[in-house]
Amino acid sequence: MKVYKIATIPGDGIGKEVIPAGQKVLETLAASFDSFRFEFESFGWGGDYYREHGVMMPDDGLDSLRDKDAILFGSAGDPHIPDHITLWGLRLKICQGFDQYANVRPTRILPGIDAPLKRCRREDLDWVIVRENSEGEYSGVGGRAHQGHPIEVATDVSMMTRAGVERVLRFAFRLAQSRPRKQLTVVTKSNAQRHAMVMWDQIAGEVAAEFPDVQWDKELVDAMTARMVNKPASLDTIVATNLHADILSDLAAALAGSLGIAPTGNIDPERRYPSMFEPIHGSAFDIMGKGLANPVGTFWSVVMLLEHLGEDAAASRLMAVIEQVTATPALHTGDLGGSATTVQVTDAVCDLLQEAT
Ligand code: ATP
Ligand code: MG
Repeated sequence: MKVYKIATIPGDGIGKEVIPAGQKVLETLAASFDSFRFEFESFGWGGDYYREHGVMMPDDGLDSLRDKDAILFGSAGDPHIPDHITLWGLRLKICQGFDQYANVRPTRILPGIDAPLKRCRREDLDWVIVRENSEGEYSGVGGRAHQGHPIEVATDVSMMTRAGVERVLRFAFRLAQSRPRKQLTVVTKSNAQRHAMVMWDQIAGEVAAEFPDVQWDKELVDAMTARMVNKPASLDTIVATNLHADILSDLAAALAGSLGIAPTGNIDPERRYPSMFEPIHGSAFDIMGKGLANPVGTFWSVVMLLEHLGEDAAASRLMAVIEQVTATPALHTGDLGGSATTVQVTDAVCDLLQEAT
């Protein structure tokens, strides 16, 4: 029997509610497949840890995660701690420390979800957005000078390396190739940003030559937002820079019906380090502790985690159960217009998983 070591990091706010729900679903799955089981270790890092220790996670935190097969992450964010501390002190520290350079965000309208675009049929919107996750606009390069003076300046340098661009584009082409439509859209802003974005376009052409069976096109990020709304069916796999894809994937999640259901994976494609899976929503302090959080984003992230481990049968069984649950209005949480609780949705998923055996 295979034993997978899973680190759970609930983090802050509703992360503390949805991550135990995700663990319960993984345990239920393992009980019905006798070919694998999980060993969990939970890490209480985040806002509370910061208040006690002055840092979001211990200095040797990455060492405690290094031997895990995957990480299930909740959310980092606390209204009483500046955002750049919660973000850079935990999530980005792990993403960068483990060189999880591809952030993967599947987007679909699940059955039973009332999506905002009236003309968009479910089959029209089936995307995977790949976000460059290690450099670019979020490289942290830059600074401030002459603070408080009229000549004060501040810069954020969007630094892109050929190696960094090449590897994420190659990952995106490979992902596009693995999907039925074999189609990739490369998003840049190379008409206005004349250096790094032009290099993206150039490298995209070079990498494309390695994937003659993938149909690809280029789109400017501004035009891309309109295309996502007006012609969703013209898109399949999408790759963009750190900042551009951050924005596009929030738009994508909204078009699919709710922030509460969207998943993401921070992947190290070379598997040198553990990859990290998380719902895309944040800590949502407004509903924290009330049992109202939608756990579906976490469950879908668990599907991605299982796929990453190569447990495809378990992944597809869980995905089918998630779709059964979203198709049932009585199991919709508040963000979907219903009144179901986190526990009710979690129990329904676990019951269906047991029935399916
Ligand atoms: P952060 O600062 O960590 O991003 P946030 O307070 O901005 O947290 P988000 O998670 O970004 O919260 O979500 C915005 C709003 O959407 C929340 O305030 C909450 O009302 C709602 N929401 C987000 N996720 C969920 C969920 N899983 N279930 C129900 N509602 C949610
Ligand atoms: Mg937020």
